[in-house]
Amino acid sequence: MAEPSKLPTMEATVARTSAPHAEANPAWLRLDGVTLAYGSKVVVAGLDLTLARGQIGCLLGPSGCGKTTVLRAIAGFEPVVAGSVQLDGHVLSSREAHLPPEQRRVGMMFQDQALFPHLTVADNVAFGLRGAAHARERVAQMLDTVGLGHAARRFPHELSGGQQQRVALARALAPAPRLLLLDEPFSSLDVELREHLGAEVRALLARSGITALLVTHDQHEAFAIADEIGVMRDGRIEQWDSAYRLYHQPANRFVADFVGHGVFLPGTVIDGSRVQMELGVLESAQPVRCTEHGDVCPSGCQVDVLLRPDDVVHDDASRVTAQVLAKAFRGAEFLYTLRLPSGAKVLSLVPSHHDHAIGERIGIRLEIDHVVAYKRDGGPDLACNT
Ligand code: ADP
Ligand code: MG
Repeated sequence: MAEPSKLPTMEATVARTSAPHAEANPAWLRLDGVTLAYGSKVVVAGLDLTLARGQIGCLLGPSGCGKTTVLRAIAGFEPVVAGSVQLDGHVLSSREAHLPPEQRRVGMMFQDQALFPHLTVADNVAFGLRGAAHARERVAQMLDTVGLGHAARRFPHELSGGQQQRVALARALAPAPRLLLLDEPFSSLDVELREHLGAEVRALLARSGITALLVTHDQHEAFAIADEIGVMRDGRIEQWDSAYRLYHQPANRFVADFVGHGVFLPGTVIDGSRVQMELGVLESAQPVRCTEHGDVCPSGCQVDVLLRPDDVVHDDASRVTAQVLAKAFRGAEFLYTLRLPSGAKVLSLVPSHHDHAIGERIGIRLEIDHVVAYKRDGGPDLACNT
């Protein structure tokens, strides 16, 4: 077995699993126990979520988990079966009450919601203002905000995809909605443009002080735009947290798999805070917890430890070596797929001036801030609560 690797201390914290009901910062948007169904098929079950005024939240999850249905319920297009939707302290939807969509002052921007092709950019933006007295002024202001003041007289087909999405955003923001809902707004654009536009949109939403809820299946879009993100599965929020904590302290395997790359490697808890692994002994300042339950793992507990590509560091001085199986050039870094002596695979993100050939053995060590361990399925039945 390899030498124990020296690891920095780490904090094993249990992740939050639902949006906090922040009392100090009262909720602007609040969903309490929202259940939604199509006929007898329940697709969202008892969903809680709060957003403070000016906050940008995101629901991130695979296709079919209920994201669009939640947005449609907030916008007033789907009735709630149970629970309530409140905005600024007023009930929009409950079993007893249902405010029609046009009275909610909720703006929407959907991926497939095309601009009107026969209207100019300015007329597209003016559309939601319905001839309001200040419409021209507002349109000019909105187009300036999204950096398209010069394109007011153009038609949608004369703009790039990214520019069209910015016009759609200006159109959604023009009537000054109390809440903006964005459904996979940039998924039709290519990846680079999506990330670039994501950062731009984030700055723009922050400048306008609007409260927004984005839904997407794309973690890059979520990370680029949102302050806090709820990872959804089958109509439930598995974890509501910052992007950093979703990545480094996922509450369960589903979140760990869905957010970011990574592998699970087996380990055995030696005592509360040390885990014996093929790569050495992981030493934790805090007791290791089987994160799915939040309970401290007893000695002998067999666990799977999450290793992200940035937890596995290339180090020529390390006595632990692994063989390069595959490599992907990412510009500043290579993402190496490495095989350990046991045959297990790990991923490692390495600065790209370390250009190693397939088949070569390279030194590696672990550098982990937070140990994320889950009790291994089929392991001995030790209660994880001692
Ligand atoms: P997402 O936006 O996360 O992809 P949706 O909210 O669109 O998910 O859908 C959630 C579930 O509800 C899926 O199983 C989908 O098939 C189902 N669904 C969506 N719209 C309808 C509808 N109009 N009638 C019946 N089932 C629907
Ligand atoms: Mg959808």
